[in-house]
Amino acid sequence: MSRKCINKQDRLKVFKKLNGHCAYCGCSITEKNFVVDHIKPVMSGGDNSIDNLFPACKSCNSYKHFYDVGNNEDTESWGTFRNLLSNLTKQLERISIFKIALRYGIVKLGSWDRWFYYESLFFVKGNPANPDKVIRTFTLYEKARNWVLKNKSKYDFDLLVSDGRGRKYIIK
Ligand SMILES: [Zn+2]
Repeated sequence: MSRKCINKQDRLKVFKKLNGHCAYCGCSITEKNFVVDHIKPVMSGGDNSIDNLFPACKSCNSYKHFYDVGNNEDTESWGTFRNLLSNLTKQLERISIFKIALRYGIVKLGSWDRWFYYESLFFVKGNPANPDKVIRTFTLYEKARNWVLKNKSKYDFDLLVSDGRGRKYIIK
């Protein structure tokens, strides 16, 4: 199975899935410059079905490489794209020029909340003030919904979730 098997029609379908955004970082992409990404990599047995394909920017696609996306709750395994990104700061801190930039306040370390753009849409779609509607519009992002439903029981208050862009919503 190779990327070449994906025809123009399917490529357009994949692009339309996220209305011109990279599935992972959420940056703007165009029909010309985007890359078709295999959510489950071909190397791990992923196929060319539309369900397994996401639009991505070249940068994310290249960095994700042969990694699986990984679960948000899975913090143990390093072998996922999510964990690669979560641990990026450790790699950056090893670079001497970065350390200098850090010391002089030129750059600041932040953390990532481990939600990809396509997962964050689950929370953003609809009106955030009306979370019931947000839940009902959920179709594509099964993994995020499962995470919410599974973890909801762990909290005795309304579950506060982040949309990956620094905004927090309450799911009732
Ligand atoms: Zn990206």
